[in-house]
Amino acid sequence: YAKDQGKNTFQFYSPEMNAKAMENLSLENDLRGALARNELVVFYQPKVDIASGITVGAEALIRWEHPKLGQISPLKFIPIAEEIGLINDIGQWVLAQACTQAKLWQQQTPGFVISVNVSPQQFRDEDLLDRVQATIARSGIDPYKVELELTEGCLMDSVESNIQTLEALKDLGVRLSVDDFGTGYSSLAYLKRFPVDVLKIDRSFVRDLASDPEDAAIVCTIISLAHSLKLEVVAEGVEDTEQLAFLAKQNCDQFQGYLCSRPVPPENFHSLLSAPANWFCLPRQKQKRSD
Ligand code: C2E
Ligand code: MG
Ligand code: MG
Ligand code: MG
Repeated sequence: YAKDQGKNTFQFYSPEMNAKAMENLSLENDLRGALARNELVVFYQPKVDIASGITVGAEALIRWEHPKLGQISPLKFIPIAEEIGLINDIGQWVLAQACTQAKLWQQQTPGFVISVNVSPQQFRDEDLLDRVQATIARSGIDPYKVELELTEGCLMDSVESNIQTLEALKDLGVRLSVDDFGTGYSSLAYLKRFPVDVLKIDRSFVRDLASDPEDAAIVCTIISLAHSLKLEVVAEGVEDTEQLAFLAKQNCDQFQGYLCSRPVPPENFHSLLSAPANWFCLPRQKQKRSD
């Protein structure tokens, strides 16, 4: 049909764009039924207290087991869920699963805190508070042991109304954390006003911690910033003992990462709850320090 096109007509689609659009369209359709078909599952990754080596909580991370395509990353389908308005239902489902599961683990580890990601659209939903409250009440979990993770980018967008939402969430008793901290453009003046409990250092700064002095400096700065503001600080993406030793020396509170465990299905989580693992040796030095 090229000859039918007037000289002012743009060619909108390349074959690749078309293929991509078709793929997204069929993922969209599949995603609409995924929850009802039980294709969505929640995995859990331990959060480890660096001073003791004990698992003190977990982050709930959603997985999609697509019947034909296999496991699809949340990095791929969460944006689609946001686009087609499914994120609220999916997010509340994750919260309900995670709270019910954590309540069971709390029988063994009473202080266990469960962290759940909240997407920007979910955060702005007018029913957020009611739904969070209802879900927590239904599961019977203590709200002080539920933590909601919000990304730095989400929080820095329309700050004044966000502070109100955060304060209302705090009134429910939940803990709040700033996820992927350091990747956005936080204003320190706002950070002071956000009623949050935890900063999570983004894993891009943790990766080369041992070899890159600039990353090391950023991590040290975030840890001392958090502590000066009386916040806890968690390092993401810790994969080796060198990184852990550095974080321990800097008094980072907790870590998450493959060094301890990848995210696992709930039935595999149990063994991670008990004693400190054998890779855990270095941070004990911290307890002997006299300062
Ligand atoms: P996030 O919240 O920053 O989660 C941390 C991600 O880092 C997870 O990826 C986790 O598997 C990965 N990770 C943990 N330790 C390591 C490590 O040592 N090395 C490396 N290379 N990666 C590590 P995942 O599960 O693929 O999730 C990606 C993102 O998808 C999450 O980033 C979060 O933004 C989003 N997401 C996942 N589950 C949910 C959910 O239930 N709701 C919402 N709204 N978003 C979710
Ligand atoms: Mg997170
Ligand atoms: Mg993160
Ligand atoms: Mg991240």
